[in-house]
Amino acid sequence: MNHQTPIDRLRRPIRDLRISVTDRCNFRCSYCMPKEIFGDDFAFMPKSELLTFEEIERLTRLFASIGVKKIRLTGGEPLLRKDMPTLVSRIMQVDGVEDVGLTTNGVMLGAHAQALHDAGLRRLNVSLDALDSELFGRLNGRGVDSALILKQIDHAVETGFEVKVNMVVQKGVNESEILPMAAYFKDKGVTLRFIEFMDVGNDNGWSFKRVVTKKEIYERLAEIHELEPVDPDYFGEVASRYRYKGTQSEVGFITSVSESFCSSCTRARLSSNGIFYTCLFAYKGFDLRALLRGGASDEEILSAIVEVWEARADRYSDERTEQTARNRKKINMSYIGG
Ligand code: SAM
Ligand code: SF4
Ligand code: SF4
Repeated sequence: MNHQTPIDRLRRPIRDLRISVTDRCNFRCSYCMPKEIFGDDFAFMPKSELLTFEEIERLTRLFASIGVKKIRLTGGEPLLRKDMPTLVSRIMQVDGVEDVGLTTNGVMLGAHAQALHDAGLRRLNVSLDALDSELFGRLNGRGVDSALILKQIDHAVETGFEVKVNMVVQKGVNESEILPMAAYFKDKGVTLRFIEFMDVGNDNGWSFKRVVTKKEIYERLAEIHELEPVDPDYFGEVASRYRYKGTQSEVGFITSVSESFCSSCTRARLSSNGIFYTCLFAYKGFDLRALLRGGASDEEILSAIVEVWEARADRYSDERTEQTARNRKKINMSYIGG
């Protein structure tokens, strides 16, 4: 089954699919799942609501048949979902899928890295916002020591993964960690990517004042390191990349706020209960699970996907203001899957 790739109203093809496999997480990062909202009594989805591996595989096959080539598995914390290596190997076998990656907070990598590698996964993004243990313990809301994540990153590299580290930078919170993190990962030859703090969901206390922009971070780095730009690998690559001169180590910036990249955004998102979203900042999505479980044929599901994509005009980050950030209703990041 091979169909034409749908193009949205801003002339963007569908190319990537981010699949959230769970809305649960063992961390409580304040910018994503603040403890006050995601407390002990928070109602996460019952298992029956989650897409099964069969359903995820079927949707992946349908998305791939219209041009999706890159898949990212995310959450919540994806490694909390049982049997992820099985899902990975099923997705890797889908015709047309060229690249599969997984984003994780890293806590459980020790237990799963080898099996994920055996299943064919090669690319991991590990999130880490500080080297300082005390600060990191506070940021993750669970007192987890940064030393544990550093150990897991080493383990993943030794296992054979290409690892990238994601650091969300918040003004007055972890700016002091920019240079130590850069120096540490430069020496390790692991790419560190600085992510601008975003107003995902409606609960994370975001304002422009709390964003540390790429320009600010770049200037700090450039005082110490000589950096040269690296060309993007493909159209729509989200990170702007630099190499530390004279080395193979790279650093990247995800400038979702200061230099938005909506015009080249080819990403679709699937929540863990099967809702299809066309933007990270969407409020409404399309219920694909209802079609799956209602007995719809592949052709029926495909035409729904194509119709939703062709109607897409999202460009939230291009249009962001303090007011939209505050007033627009949005889906939580842990649910829609980062
Ligand atoms: N739990 C996994 C993890 O943390 O890597 C995967 C899901 S998490 C939602 C995916 C990515 O989104 C992480 O790198 C996280 O740091 C990032 N993220 C979450 N909230 C964010 C925010 N408000 N601004 C920028 N990035 C954010
Ligand atoms: Fe969990 Fe990842 Fe969100 Fe942190 S960013 S709370 S690790 S889902
Ligand atoms: Fe894509 Fe929406 Fe982010 Fe723009 S705001 S880059 S359309 S996900």
